[in-house]
Amino acid sequence: MASITLKNLVKKYGDGFPAVNDVSIDIADGEFLILVGPSGCGKSTLLRMIVGLEDITSGDLLIDGQRVNEKEPRERNLSMVFQNYALYPHLTVYENIAFPLRLSKGKFSQEEIDRKVRHAASTLDLDEHLERKPANLSGGQRQRVAMGRAIVRDADAFLFDEPLSNLDAKLRGQMRTEIAQLQRRMGITSIYVTHDQTEAMTLGDRVAVLKKGVLQQIASPRELYEQP
Ligand code: ADP
Ligand code: ADP
Repeated sequence: MASITLKNLVKKYGDGFPAVNDVSIDIADGEFLILVGPSGCGKSTLLRMIVGLEDITSGDLLIDGQRVNEKEPRERNLSMVFQNYALYPHLTVYENIAFPLRLSKGKFSQEEIDRKVRHAASTLDLDEHLERKPANLSGGQRQRVAMGRAIVRDADAFLFDEPLSNLDAKLRGQMRTEIAQLQRRMGITSIYVTHDQTEAMTLGDRVAVLKKGVLQQIASPRELYEQP
């Protein structure tokens, strides 16, 4: 777990209008922050800057008080959950979850990998499906495998990029509840990007509203509801 601090973050692509414009947010240890706003407002860019997949034009990014602007993604120890699941179709659920651990060659023994994968699978209620391939899973199960990948790495924080946008309405509601429960149970710092109002108002501790790259407001869902 870790706190994440955004200090006057700016991202410019070329010499156009900044995609992210002077955004400052303090995200506490264990907090669940929702990042909401219309398409093109800079949500994904901000998330990619935090995870390290996009250079920061100016400003500072701190994880647990340490400036990480120039750190490689792998050194930031954050875990990104994507909307398209990004699962390997030819690998079983077990191997999909184990994949990030196998990537860090030699760091984990076979026993450790096995223990971590089974622990993640049990947290996500996937124990029964470890030998299946993604094609034989429901959308919700696939989403949970994607989260298993994130959990297994013992990341300091989760970054969700519209993880539910490909699901039908019923499953979306179900997964919304599951993600909220899982986040609370694990108490892991999370940033969750969405353009869905319901997700924004039900999932997180606080909601940050972006418009044209600028942070418009940041408040708890309750405070946002009560606004005139
Ligand atoms: P959102 O995730 O809220 O839809 P994005 O972060 O994807 O918004 O985009 C914010 C702005 O930055 C948009 O105007 C978009 O066109 C622009 N943008 C995003 N990625 C790039 C890129 N790689 N090159 C140039 N402009 C980009
Ligand atoms: P490799 O260089 O070992 O083939 P990658 O370049 O795919 O592997 O990723 C290396 C590391 O970078 C990952 O283990 C992870 O820590 C980090 N990383 C890459 N992409 C992401 C992402 N989308 N979210 C979080 N971490 C990432």
